[in-house]
Amino acid sequence: RTFYEAIEDAFESEEIPYVLCTRRDYFTRGEIADLVNLISLLAEPDDPSYLAGWMASPLSEMPPGLAEELLARSKAGRESGDLLLLSDIIRKEHPELISYLEEMKKKAELRGVSAIIRELLCSPEFLTSYEPEQRRRVRANISYMAEIAAEYEVSQGRSLAGCAEYMRFSVKESKQQEEPEITDEDNDAVNVLTIHSAKGLEYPVVALGGAEARPKGPPSVDTSVRYGVIAKQMPDFLKYPEKKEVLTVAGMWHEERETMALLEEDKRFWYVASTRARDKLIICGLTKTDSSSGEELPPAKESFLSMISSSREAGDKWTLCSEEEVSPSYKNIKRACGGSTGPVYMLYPKIVSPAKLARLSASAYAMLSWCPTAYRLAYRQGRTMQWTLRGGEGAGGSEFGSLAHWVLSKWDFSNDTLSDWLPGGENESEYERVLKNVPYEVREEFRSALSRKQIREILYNYAMSEEGKMLSALLSQKGESKLWRETPFRVLDDGLLMVGSTDIFWEETDRICLRDWKTTTEEIAPGEYYEEQLKFYAYAMYIFRKGKRLPEKMIEIGINYLRSPSEKKKIIEMSDEALESTGERVHGAAVSALLDIFETRYEYCSRCPWRYICSKKHI
Ligand code: SF4
Repeated sequence: RTFYEAIEDAFESEEIPYVLCTRRDYFTRGEIADLVNLISLLAEPDDPSYLAGWMASPLSEMPPGLAEELLARSKAGRESGDLLLLSDIIRKEHPELISYLEEMKKKAELRGVSAIIRELLCSPEFLTSYEPEQRRRVRANISYMAEIAAEYEVSQGRSLAGCAEYMRFSVKESKQQEEPEITDEDNDAVNVLTIHSAKGLEYPVVALGGAEARPKGPPSVDTSVRYGVIAKQMPDFLKYPEKKEVLTVAGMWHEERETMALLEEDKRFWYVASTRARDKLIICGLTKTDSSSGEELPPAKESFLSMISSSREAGDKWTLCSEEEVSPSYKNIKRACGGSTGPVYMLYPKIVSPAKLARLSASAYAMLSWCPTAYRLAYRQGRTMQWTLRGGEGAGGSEFGSLAHWVLSKWDFSNDTLSDWLPGGENESEYERVLKNVPYEVREEFRSALSRKQIREILYNYAMSEEGKMLSALLSQKGESKLWRETPFRVLDDGLLMVGSTDIFWEETDRICLRDWKTTTEEIAPGEYYEEQLKFYAYAMYIFRKGKRLPEKMIEIGINYLRSPSEKKKIIEMSDEALESTGERVHGAAVSALLDIFETRYEYCSRCPWRYICSKKHI
């Protein structure tokens, strides 16, 4: 937290939006105090201090001279015994301001405080009152406040007075509050937080600071289960005056034991910190240089930076770059921090050319192929994929699909046994029996008689189709199974670990047939996306079989839109050339994911599930 000020300066000079996720700092921000004041005013419109606070804040968009004049007149009136209230002056002379506040109050009561905060952000003229470099931060902080208000509304309901009180309480308590309780990846801003408060959270890209710091030793007076109260040094009256420092034996033993424990703790601490990153980890630490020779001095022993540096010596996996090699804008940051102008070097992992992800999932690859901007939204900002969201009961939302997939992974594709997995409402004991075996995460969907009925209908039609009959026959065959369902895989290909899970595949004499089941319609689940995902599966299977020297077979892929008539089904035979070209695209995607250049596929915008939140859409 000691670096917060420098970090803020750096982000502001680079105009990068950020949120300090430590409540103490967050709630004492000027814009947050102004916003809490406005919400309080809406809840208590007769309170003159809230009214005065709002008038003086950028949120009122009043010209500074006018707010000042009205406040001065009200103050002068009070001093001269004139009981004309500030609200009366405004009501008389600026009725439009009172109407505006009344309108806001009504909206807050009807639609919730979070809605009016978001509305404020839609017409952000008030931002012009802030310095240009502060505007993005102010915007991000206010947007974060909308999330806090929304959380309150979800747990406590829509209450303007309650929400205002909760916010005031947060501001008041924030002085003692050191760690964040709420963080949110949805803000398009960098989250700045302490490592302790990041426990349990994950982010696509994580930068760690302070890696040069050494772990602290035990305090000079400590308690120990083994030795009782420990003083590290002999008290003055027990040592010879000429001896500066005399350590006690118990202190030495204690230090020996505790230092080891603290070092272990420090390693765990940095382990926790490093594993917060999903895609990219940047470790920042300062090394000193010898003032006479200009040579880099090794980082302090036992620091995290030293741990990393030792791996450089051991395996030559690290390299030093001067600041110019790393980023031309780094100088600005250094200036903003008021740092020295001496030479600065960075310890960087040796450049692997081209750098690529070590692991790529089928869905990440499909997303990158669909539109790199969508990949950024999903995998860098952690936003939920729109078309996997629940779309209402029976509408093909994610739980509906998961329940259908669960049945498809167990059922023998015979209509006679369908109700064993999806019982109707009339047979209570049968329903209870099956419910016990349903995975916990889809039980809610299973409880819906309408969803069970709709899935039964969809699967009934599937069982009647040619493919359904063939699968049923395949399953009833004696001997080694030729059909696999819900099969997770991890296949390593040229340094890239490909992971995913196939819905179903079966083996025929000359081919392997891979299928993906979709319970939504193609408008909701775009075909190109799932086709690319299936090609990824096919390529992984091709590499797997090659590695195991299994007989060469044609790999055939297809998407089964279970709600659509079977004649619409698209089957693709993957030739060796098609598989090789998929492989090139997969490795290309693993490289481009690390380039941080996320292009847009405008041709998909009009039917892209991200179009409602994507700022780059082109429709
Ligand atoms: S809306 Fe357009 S630019 Fe945005 S993610 Fe979708 S396809 Fe890409």
